[in-house]
Amino acid sequence: MLGMVGRAAEGFYQVCRGLWTVFKHSGRPPTTKEFPDVMPELPGAFRGRLALAVNPETGEHLCISCRQCERVCPDKCIDITAHKSPQTGKLELIDFKIDHGLCMFCGLCTEVCPTSCIINTSDFEMSEYSRGALIYDLKRLTLSQEESAYYFAKKDLPPPKPKAKPAPKPEAAGDAGESLAQQPSDVSQQPGPKAEE
Ligand code: SF4
Ligand code: SF4
Repeated sequence: MLGMVGRAAEGFYQVCRGLWTVFKHSGRPPTTKEFPDVMPELPGAFRGRLALAVNPETGEHLCISCRQCERVCPDKCIDITAHKSPQTGKLELIDFKIDHGLCMFCGLCTEVCPTSCIINTSDFEMSEYSRGALIYDLKRLTLSQEESAYYFAKKDLPPPKPKAKPAPKPEAAGDAGESLAQQPSDVSQQPGPKAEE
């Protein structure tokens, strides 16, 4: 008999506890967001879709094709194509591919990048109908100047410096030499002082 009374009292206590919890929360504002109508405010360190930022001032690509991101990636999902420019002797980026289907968003590639051009954006809506569509090429990865400026400010990254202009071609010096070489003949053709008669 005592056992039954004890169990009834325990049940009544648990019901009261549940009702009290409902009562406590009924006056509180909701902590859930009505996504996608209300987008969550994500911190700058959030690691979403990867992208390549450009110089917000000039719009030029910041990637120097050093391949550090490619080497550090544990999932081997970065594939860079670059060649050595015959004009400048420097590496030039041809294509940059990231397979977001393999990426685990660890952020290691963004940490090793010397120019801070590869960044994690706040975009997490990346659903696609095929795995192939998750491979982003250079065009899809490249951010606009406005987007780049936004992420540089949001992530508190140092503003990029403009790339150094290539040195003048050696042919220019050759041209100058030629024009100098032509000078004496030009001078000889100029009318000199008249000989005294
Ligand atoms: S976030 Fe990690 S897994 Fe994804 S590309 Fe960068 S290094 Fe690779
Ligand atoms: S580490 Fe940065 S600069 Fe180097 S290849 Fe990757 S994205 Fe380009």
